Amino acid sequence: MKILVVEDEPKTGEYLRQGLMEAGFVVDLARDGADGQHIALTQAYDLAILDVMLPGMNGWEILRGIRQAGKDMPVMFLTAKDDVDHRVRGLELGADDYLVKPFAFSELLARVRTLLRRGTKVKEAESLRAADLELDLLRRRVTRAGHKIDLTAKEFALLELLLRRQGEVLPRSLIASQVWDMNFDSDTNVIEVAVRRLRAKVDDAFEAKLIRTVRGMGYVLEAP
Ligand code: CA
Repeated sequence: MKILVVEDEPKTGEYLRQGLMEAGFVVDLARDGADGQHIALTQAYDLAILDVMLPGMNGWEILRGIRQAGKDMPVMFLTAKDDVDHRVRGLELGADDYLVKPFAFSELLARVRTLLRRGTKVKEAESLRAADLELDLLRRRVTRAGHKIDLTAKEFALLELLLRRQGEVLPRSLIASQVWDMNFDSDTNVIEVAVRRLRAKVDDAFEAKLIRTVRGMGYVLEAP
């Protein structure tokens, strides 16, 4: 999935680019309006995230150009102003969503995924599985070999992430941003502790271990 980010504020742009890349997206970052529109019109994207206030050409003008060119990719606006007029104007011009700065990265990511899902019309799975472990997304329940496992909300979110990306080594920075909404290089052991607790509940009583530590890299869940 390829995402275009148009944001002139270097820190925010870099934060978005890095976070979205760590979440598995391919990201192009443009720093001004004219550049952003040029890239949006000449390349194919699954989603565009546009800041409203940009040098050269604002986000609304970029969106107008995108729609006039017949491109129907979902577009999300970012703005520092939670002005109702801005919101209405963006939606009138055909924006699909609107996020007011400052925002939590986890919220942005959730909305990005929703927009992309809407775009591809893929039906969301109702449960996630690995070997005899099952996570029921609707009932928020986890079982292994038919035995119910009680998890805290964070443990559930962590297990959900590991299951959704099973077989993939997930760096701590990605887990921190998606489950805890913490900074990428946060210097705490909260993740180690949570993974240890999750393992104790999910793996300890079973011979086949599903969650592994990959030294210096992160964690992976996979059926042996
Ligand atoms: Ca701006």
